[in-house]
Amino acid sequence: MASSFDRKVNFPAKEIYLYKQLNISSVSNILSSPVEYLKGVGPLRGDMLKKEVSIFTFKDLLEYYPFRHLDKTKIDKIAALNEGTEYAQVAGKLIHVELIGEKRNKRLVAYLQDDTGEMELVWFQGISWAEKLLTVGHHYLVFGKVGFFMNRVQINHPEIELYTAEKADGRKFLEPVYYSTEKLKARGLNGRAFAKLTYALLQQLSARDLPENLPETLLSKYRFISRWEALCSIHFPASEEMYTHAVRRLKFEELFYAQLRLGLLRSTRHRFSQGWAFNKVGDLFNTFYNTYLPFELTNAQKRVLKEIRKDIGSGKQMNRLLQGDVGSGKTIVALLSMLIAADNSDPTNGDAFQSVLMAPTEILAQQHYNTIAEILKDMPVCVKLLTGSSVTKQRREILKACEDGSLNILIGTHAVIEDKVKFKNLGFAVIDEQHKFGVAQRAKLWNKNSLPPHVLVMTATPIPRTLALTAYGDLDYSVIDELPPGRQPIATVHRFESKRPMVMDFIKEEIKKGRQAYVVYPLIEESAKMDYENLMKGFEEVKSFFPEPKYWISMVHGRQPAEQKKTNMQRFVNGDTQIMVSTTVIEVGVNVPNASIMVIESAEKFGLSQLHQLRGRVGRGSEQSFCILLTGNKVSKDARERLKILCATNDGFKVAEKDLEIRGPGDIEGTKQSGLLNFKLANIVSDRLMLEAAKNAATEIINIDPDLMLAENLPVKTFLHFQKGQTVWSKIS
Ligand code: ADP
Ligand code: MG
Repeated sequence: MASSFDRKVNFPAKEIYLYKQLNISSVSNILSSPVEYLKGVGPLRGDMLKKEVSIFTFKDLLEYYPFRHLDKTKIDKIAALNEGTEYAQVAGKLIHVELIGEKRNKRLVAYLQDDTGEMELVWFQGISWAEKLLTVGHHYLVFGKVGFFMNRVQINHPEIELYTAEKADGRKFLEPVYYSTEKLKARGLNGRAFAKLTYALLQQLSARDLPENLPETLLSKYRFISRWEALCSIHFPASEEMYTHAVRRLKFEELFYAQLRLGLLRSTRHRFSQGWAFNKVGDLFNTFYNTYLPFELTNAQKRVLKEIRKDIGSGKQMNRLLQGDVGSGKTIVALLSMLIAADNSDPTNGDAFQSVLMAPTEILAQQHYNTIAEILKDMPVCVKLLTGSSVTKQRREILKACEDGSLNILIGTHAVIEDKVKFKNLGFAVIDEQHKFGVAQRAKLWNKNSLPPHVLVMTATPIPRTLALTAYGDLDYSVIDELPPGRQPIATVHRFESKRPMVMDFIKEEIKKGRQAYVVYPLIEESAKMDYENLMKGFEEVKSFFPEPKYWISMVHGRQPAEQKKTNMQRFVNGDTQIMVSTTVIEVGVNVPNASIMVIESAEKFGLSQLHQLRGRVGRGSEQSFCILLTGNKVSKDARERLKILCATNDGFKVAEKDLEIRGPGDIEGTKQSGLLNFKLANIVSDRLMLEAAKNAATEIINIDPDLMLAENLPVKTFLHFQKGQTVWSKIS
C-alpha cells in the first residue's frame, strides 16, 4: 500500500512551474456548465438541485460524493443470509408466485430458490407491474434490503431482473448511494437518480476534462491514483480497494488545496502587508526585564518572545496566535511585547508606540490591569483601564491621554476599540481569549493608525495543533508548551453528591492551612432562571457548612451590578473571604494563587474544555491544589468519559484533543463560522497525519514559488483577504 504521511517532500523547481501551468487551466469549461444542461436534469430539477443540495454546475455534481456503496460484486447464497445481513444480491429460479390478502393487506409474494435454500420476494405496491415481470421457472437476479418475517428470509420490493449468463458478468459493481432530500425525491431525484446522473456525466467527460492537479512528486511519493481515476472511482469503483484509493487521493487534494490557499495568504501577508518596524529593544524593556520581572521566564516563554520580536522587527505586520494552557504565563509575554512597542517610535515624528490589551470581560480586564499596573508601578509607563463602567470624568482623561500620546498601555474590554478612542500612535494590540472577539470588532483596530498594529491573539482554550493548522492556518502560530516551574499538577477527582459532607470537611481542612476555595455552579443561558435559583440554594447550603464569623464567603454572578461583583471579587482576591461561590464568570483569567481548591457543582453539565478552563483557576501557587467534580448520582456515559479524562490528565492540549475526538471539529468554539472545517471528505481528527503532510507539501511549494496563483473554483474557502495593503477580515463563502 501507500507510504505513510511523515517525510518531507522535495519538489524539483521545474515541476512547480509545470504544476502552476496545469493548475491554472485545470477547470475546463464543460465542468462549469450549469447543472440543468445535463441530460435528464432540465430547469425544474436544476432549480431543486441548487436549492436543496447546492449543486449548481457539472463540477458540483461530480463532487457530490456517495456516502456509501451497495456491494453488487458478489452473489449471496440464500442459506447464508442472516439477521446481520443488511443488503444482499441473490440469483435463483422463481418457483412460485401468489397473491395474498385482501385490499390494504394485499401483497404479491414470489418464491426464489437457489442451490442452498428458498426465500420470499414481496411487493405491496406495483403488484400488477411485478406480476407481469415474473415468470415461474425463469432465473432472476435480485437485490435489496434483507428482512426476516416469521423466520423466513425476505426482500421487500427488490430490484429484480432476468438473470442470464452475460448479465452475470455485467452486473458486478459497487452501486453508489447518495444523500437525497424529500423534496428532491418528490421530483424523482432519489439516491438512485443521482447515480444515473453522475454516471451520465462521467460518460460525457474524459481524462482531459479533469487534468491532474497534484504535482508528480506527490503522486509518486504517496502513490496516489490520478484525479480522473479518483473521481470515476469514488462514484463507481471497480472494487473496494479502488474506492479506498479514490477517497485517499481526493481527501489529500482537499487538504492540500486548503493548506495552499491558507499558506499563500500567510506568505502574501508576510511579503506585502507593511507594518511598523520595532527594531530596538530599549530602556523600558531592559529595565523591566532586569529589575522588575518577578521570575525567570520559562524556555517556552523566551522562545515565543523571540518569535514575536522577530515579527515586529521585520517591517511587516504581525498576526500571531499565541496558545498556551491556563497558567502557562501568556500575560507576561504580552506585557514584555508591549514594552518593546513603547521603546520604539515612529521615525517620522518621534511618537512612541502605544498598545492596547483587550479582554472579553470586565472582571478579566480589571484583573489584567491590577496585575500590570502593580508590576509596572515603579516604571515610567502610563497604564490605564477603560471599560464600559468607567465614569465619565475618568473616561475623558483616558481618551485624552490616548490622543496626546502620554498613555502607553490601554487595558480594557470592547470599549477600547470604540470609534471614540483615538490613539496618537497605536502600534501593538493584544487580544486575550480571542474567540470571544468578533471578526468585525477586530477589523476596527485596523483604522486606528496609518498602518495596522501588530496583533497578538492569545487563547487559553488550547486547540489541538491539527485544528489550529486548519482553522488558523493563515495566522502565525506560537505555543507556550511548558508551565512555570514548581507547579504541581492539580489533583482532580470525581465525587457523587452523596459525598458532599466529606468534600466540605476537606475544604475546612484546607482553609485551616490558610488556603481559599472556589465553589462553582453552572449557568447555562437557556435555563438561566433555574440555574440562578440553584446558585442561591447552593450559596445557602455552603453557608450552612461554613458559618460566619469563622468563615466568610464571597458570591459573584452575572446578575450582580458591576460594582458589587467587583467588591465581592476583590474581597476574595485580598483574602478577606475564604470561599468564593460563583457561576462560570470566574472561568477566564482570574488569578488568586492562594486558592487551592475548586469544587465544580453539577460537573456533568459542563463541556470538557470548560471544565479544564475552570480548573485552571487553582494550581496557580506553589501549594498542592485540588479540583473536585461533584455530580448527581446518575451520570450519562458521555459525561462520565469527560470526567474520567479530566481526572487523568492536567494537560490542556490532551484535553482538547479528546474534546475534538468526542465532539468533532464542528463544535469547537470559534471555528464554526469560518467554514474552513467543512471538508467534503477529509476529517481533521482521523486524517491528521494526512493534514500534516498536506501542510508540509503546501509550505514547500510556497517557499519555492511564492507567486503561485491558484485557479478559481478550487475547493477552498477563506476569511482573510487584502485591501489597499491592509488585512481585512471577512467571510467569503
Ligand atoms: P495564562 O497563560 O493563563 O494567562 P498568566 O499569564 O495569568 O497565565 O500566568 C499565570 C501565573 O503564573 C501568574 O501568576 C504569573 O505571574 C505566573 N507566571 C508566569 N510566568 C511565570 C514564570 N516564568 N515563572 C513563574 N511564574 C510565572
Ligand atoms: Mg490569561
